[in-house]
Amino acid sequence: MLELARINARGVVQGVGFRPFVYRLASKYNLKGWVYNTSEDVKIEVQGERKGIECFLLELQDNAPPLARIEDISATYHLPADYTTFEIRRSTAEKNKYQLISPDIATCQACLKEIFDPEDRRYHYPFTNCTNCGPRFTIIEDIPYDRPNTTMRSFKMCPECQVEYDNPLDRRFHAQPNACPECGPILELVNAHGDRMACSDIITTAAQLLRSGKIIAIKGLGGFLLACDATNEKVVELLRYRKRRPAKPLAIMVADIDEAKRHCYVSEGEEKLLTSPQSPIVLMRWKPDSTVSQAVAPNLKYLGGMLPYTPLHHILLKETKLPLIMTSGNLSEEPIAKDNDEAIRRLSGIADYFLIHNRNIYAKYDDSVTIIEGDNIQLTRRARGYAPYPVHLTFKAKQVLGCGAQLKNTFCLTKDNYAFLSQHIGDMENLETMEHFENTLNLYKKLFRIKPEIIAYDLHPEYLSTKYALELAGQFSNIKFTPIQHHHAHIVSCMVDNGVDAPVIGVALDGTGYGSDGHVWGAEFLVADYHNFKRMGHLQYLPLPGGEAAIKRPYRTAIGYLLNLLGENALGSDLAFLRAIDNTEVELLKRQIQTGLNTPLTSSMGRLFDAVSALIGLRGEIDYEAQAAIELEMIAYDAVGETKAYPFPIIEQNGENILNLRELFSAIISDLKRKNSKANISAKFHNGLSQAILQMCQIISHESGKTQVALSGGVFQNRLLLRKVISNLSSAGFTVLTHSQVPCNDGGISLGQAVIANFTAEPKA
Ligand code: ZN
Ligand code: ZN
Ligand code: FE
Repeated sequence: MLELARINARGVVQGVGFRPFVYRLASKYNLKGWVYNTSEDVKIEVQGERKGIECFLLELQDNAPPLARIEDISATYHLPADYTTFEIRRSTAEKNKYQLISPDIATCQACLKEIFDPEDRRYHYPFTNCTNCGPRFTIIEDIPYDRPNTTMRSFKMCPECQVEYDNPLDRRFHAQPNACPECGPILELVNAHGDRMACSDIITTAAQLLRSGKIIAIKGLGGFLLACDATNEKVVELLRYRKRRPAKPLAIMVADIDEAKRHCYVSEGEEKLLTSPQSPIVLMRWKPDSTVSQAVAPNLKYLGGMLPYTPLHHILLKETKLPLIMTSGNLSEEPIAKDNDEAIRRLSGIADYFLIHNRNIYAKYDDSVTIIEGDNIQLTRRARGYAPYPVHLTFKAKQVLGCGAQLKNTFCLTKDNYAFLSQHIGDMENLETMEHFENTLNLYKKLFRIKPEIIAYDLHPEYLSTKYALELAGQFSNIKFTPIQHHHAHIVSCMVDNGVDAPVIGVALDGTGYGSDGHVWGAEFLVADYHNFKRMGHLQYLPLPGGEAAIKRPYRTAIGYLLNLLGENALGSDLAFLRAIDNTEVELLKRQIQTGLNTPLTSSMGRLFDAVSALIGLRGEIDYEAQAAIELEMIAYDAVGETKAYPFPIIEQNGENILNLRELFSAIISDLKRKNSKANISAKFHNGLSQAILQMCQIISHESGKTQVALSGGVFQNRLLLRKVISNLSSAGFTVLTHSQVPCNDGGISLGQAVIANFTAEPKA
């Protein structure tokens, strides 16, 4: 007996070869009917024997194409129709419906084989792709995902490409960016003035230029990357000078996994991640005998490396035969450049040449950055390969926008069971980044059909994201605006990351966040859920003379802490780090602390790391965010086996538990006098701090009855501390929640904001 099933499939099911897969599956089980894309899902009708339909449904779920991510399949049975064939029908667009969109995906093995096969018509063609790989999110302007809605619309397919595109059994069936040397985008090599270079083979020429020490800006998937020879210290230093980035680590790209293993210790998990379809930057332990210049990541023991993820990168790396720097095409903290003219205008003072092409980029999209700790993959920058795939929520969400933080900004839109966390936007310190924020927000609102009814923002009045929200508040009386405390947002982002919605003990350690009491918070022990939080403990408040100025010059923080904790005598003892500092500056700092002028109080963990780093003479001034703290972590790795720990007594004050720092500082000074090594001091600091965190959690657990601990905040990018804290807490019986899909740093703040606002703010009627 014939039956008919009506099926809806939702998830990432478009632009990933899903319909041809359905077509093949239908023929396999001799089913008739049709399949088509809507703005919301894929609709299927199949008619045939009941058994065949059941097998079809099973395989639909289990054997879907590699890039498909099925969220939900529903089927209902009906009376048979008179279908005699199975066909793929035209897409339809419906108002206010949306679907999930695939991130851009690294070149697949099948395409790779073609571009290195001299007999293939796509031999060395840098824009080769198929339904299993290539650009997606960066070329989509609207849904449904069809060629006219992408930046590929201006390229008319040649007859051969059209045949592939129309054939349901071909790997390129409805591959929207499908192209070949006959009909697709082309490369061009231009100099810093934008003049075209005459050359017989563009990529070979570019490779020669790179080998001879030139800097080339290369247009990639989501913007321009600056490339140069990573083994050539001179050109690396030149790039740093021109980019105004003196010390911040740069990422490299190597030809293949064997090359990666020549420069780094690559674990099994790291190898899997490097070669995954997402193909992110992975921070790996750097081998001492690597030929990659130390200038790539000065004073660091980890190196950020990735493999080629487009055909252009594959061919270029093969021709160059060198590890290449691949860093965002921008000046200092501006966003990545994406258009040809824009790139030449903005980057001509940095790059000697430009490798450009005529496939337009619609969305800016940086490389993602990951680390693997234990078996856990953690995204510290979430962009290419991951966004705009949503984070799943345990509840049905209102339409809410979280505007995010100032540094490492992302925004987040919630709807249904999804949190659409944007790709990394950047540090909101200039107009260009603000523009990138607004453009990307408009794109997400359009793609996912979201009109926020609630807008959440950080308490900090000076964040550009806060100012953006408050400006809107003046314009829209029908939207509810709600401020969210920074560390509450951190902890909730970690809960959501783990699918947890019951109250937890939250440990939020970071550089700075605006506190509910107006002080600068940053080492916060909370009991928190999606609705509310209670501050149960924190680091002792200490003065930060000069505020922002102290962040750039950690020696100021160190002096402020010493004066406050140990008095003027501490400065009298012969401390090496003080010798480099002018006496008048010390006097000025003293007066600032006495009068409290421009001297906020802080409980920041980041500043504590800074102060210790400066005090032991490791780093008194920084060139990039958290440099002093990162170098303090690095040096601790030289003191393997140090088990001693500094004291961090916890004292109850007005119902709060305060982590006191006086004994820590006098113990460090004694060790300095005893000429104990910086490595040992740093190790004892890490040991003591992780024990104090355990003690604090035990006290809070005793008071609250909670045994689940969520760890969040940028300080947990410190792998040594993270490892010790996890190990201490788990041995003591706590369940520990850490980040994986969402950054623990301020890149996760917007998610926490949007989720909390879902529970605390009612939309205006
Ligand atoms: Zn492919
Ligand atoms: Zn073609
Ligand atoms: Fe933070």
